[in-house]
Amino acid sequence: MNSAVVFNIQRFSVHDGPGIRTTVFLKGCPLNCPWCHNPESRSGRPEIAIKADRCLGCELCAPACPQGIAGPVNPLTNTNRPDSTCIHCGACVDVCPSGARDLLGETMGVDRLLAEIERDRTYHEESGGGVTFSGGEPIANGNAPFLLECLQECGKRGIHRSVDTCGHVTTDTLLAVAERADLLLYDLKIMDDARHRLVVGVGNERIHNNLKILADRGHEVWIRVPLIPGLTDDVENLTAVAEFAAGLARPFPIHLLPYHAIGGDKYGRLGLTYQLGDLAPADPVLVNEQADKMRAFGLEVHIGG
Ligand code: SF4
Ligand code: SF4
Repeated sequence: MNSAVVFNIQRFSVHDGPGIRTTVFLKGCPLNCPWCHNPESRSGRPEIAIKADRCLGCELCAPACPQGIAGPVNPLTNTNRPDSTCIHCGACVDVCPSGARDLLGETMGVDRLLAEIERDRTYHEESGGGVTFSGGEPIANGNAPFLLECLQECGKRGIHRSVDTCGHVTTDTLLAVAERADLLLYDLKIMDDARHRLVVGVGNERIHNNLKILADRGHEVWIRVPLIPGLTDDVENLTAVAEFAAGLARPFPIHLLPYHAIGGDKYGRLGLTYQLGDLAPADPVLVNEQADKMRAFGLEVHIGG
């Protein structure tokens, strides 16, 4: 049986596909989007997060650590974080009396995850919902065998299956996933290749080619566009998204996802810097105007979800 590192199971989610959903977040992502709400999803391994302002300086974590690297964290400088020798055993978390330490990510087998999903079956059935696999990137970073097995098992049980992907994955694997899923949530971020590479760390050619192939083969897709002020929400970019979507073999609906800063505080807990810290949320009036301009291309455009 396959396994993967799961860092969150979000119940009653209404933004990741039709109905009420159970969203399963897998660790590991090939992109590096500065607006990412889940920085703990980037690394494929479990991680220790530190809330430095909660550290009491009691030093209980130090003798518990088999690697000799745990200890008080200076709340002013946020230093003395676990380094690359951490084996993510969680011993320091177990003994910490103040909740200053968290272990993010747990290796789960398919049976264990299916049992978690089955707990939500009643509201899946009543709302027309199901399960959504997200991340991170559920199709890359070694997650694909686990994902494929989960999709197959969910299919046998009649659970609706969505997969949220950045599209920067091998075409064969993407198609194998698409064959076993009911819906793909597919991100288009920045249409200019050089700018895409600069902002998120990879080019977009593979992402665009994969989306064309999904359209040609008749798969169900919702295109999702994060509206990040100054990075993705300019007229040129949104016009290019609309032109690209209108030219596909199938008219996929587009969901615009307005920026909000939720998740920014997670960066500090991982020793990272949130580069968009002072960015204001997207203006709702502007978002409505942007949606109307895209509808002028004959597209079905939604705000949110
Ligand atoms: S998770 Fe284990 S190895 Fe890592 S700092 Fe904590 S006790 Fe040490
Ligand atoms: S056990 Fe927790 S509160 Fe005590 S020193 Fe370690 S991190 Fe700080």
